Amino acid sequence: MNLSKTEIIRLLSDDEHEAKLLSHADAVRRQYVGDEVHLRALLEFSNICRNNCLYCGLRKDNLKVKRYHLSAEEMVETARLAAQLGFKTVVMQSGEDMYYTAARLCPIIEAIKKFDVAITLSIGERSYADYKAFREAGADRYLMRIETTNQELYHRLDPKMSWQHRYDCLMMIKELGYELGSGIMVGLPDQTIDSVADDLLFLQQIGVDMAGIGPFIPHPETPLADCKGGTLHLALRTMAIMRLLLPDINIPATTAMEALAQNGQALALNSGANVLMPNVTAGGYCKLYELYPGQKHSINNTPKQWYDSVCSKINSIGRIVGQGYGGHKSTLLSHKKSEA
Ligand code: SF4
Repeated sequence: MNLSKTEIIRLLSDDEHEAKLLSHADAVRRQYVGDEVHLRALLEFSNICRNNCLYCGLRKDNLKVKRYHLSAEEMVETARLAAQLGFKTVVMQSGEDMYYTAARLCPIIEAIKKFDVAITLSIGERSYADYKAFREAGADRYLMRIETTNQELYHRLDPKMSWQHRYDCLMMIKELGYELGSGIMVGLPDQTIDSVADDLLFLQQIGVDMAGIGPFIPHPETPLADCKGGTLHLALRTMAIMRLLLPDINIPATTAMEALAQNGQALALNSGANVLMPNVTAGGYCKLYELYPGQKHSINNTPKQWYDSVCSKINSIGRIVGQGYGGHKSTLLSHKKSEA
């Protein structure tokens, strides 16, 4: 569906008709991607990062974080358990940890691929050669948020990083045939509604296969600790408009939404979302991967308990747990075509 920037701004700003927007997005979701909720097993394998994003609890200047990275054996074993539980996608996520070179990561991707799962990488900015190597090793999808299309704001919040370089990375990823996931944060300091509308149009224009919308939640150990955070309302509206703009893509109910309200993810699933990403990282590590406060709700549970509770959550709102790999429809079709 095409919406003008003016229409998007109106929808983002309209308190009175929010319920109508969210329920329309829910109907569009049902029509285009059905009632399945696809589960992605989130494996946070390293909280080490070379960057210093002002909003992020893992920024390198946060000396209070105990840093870790999992061994290859730990990663493969966690993925094996996730596949055994029924997950059909493993999301391998980390900060920008350069210990994990392509030479180290590719054999791990190859080993995990043997469990008959789709693999999503979420490890930040790399070279074209690395992206190519990961793809050839079996990675199917790549997730990297653009965060904001306001370049001045981006450069203020992500010191020493380049918006243009991030954009170039997204284009490399697309060119290499990955399913491309991106997304934005809403409610950032000095971010305007006008800018969020630009972000949505940007994601539509580059044709993402997955879009994650997360509210900004200030982390106490960052320079933005005292800033006002984003609201669940704005995050839900932004996500709902994303569903209208790209009706058949995958949209996660983000954990940041759950951090703002106990039923945040259920609300998101009823407002256009069709993906959940439960964390399967072992509890001891999981609690060290804190991008924002209130992030973890599963650290005292085993992956099995967490998996079962997520399935019940899905069933309790009348939805069903996706059984397949849950890729973006058009991309899956094109894969099938090339295999034929
Ligand atoms: S947002 Fe990502 S790149 Fe930035 S500091 Fe956090 S983990 Fe590193």
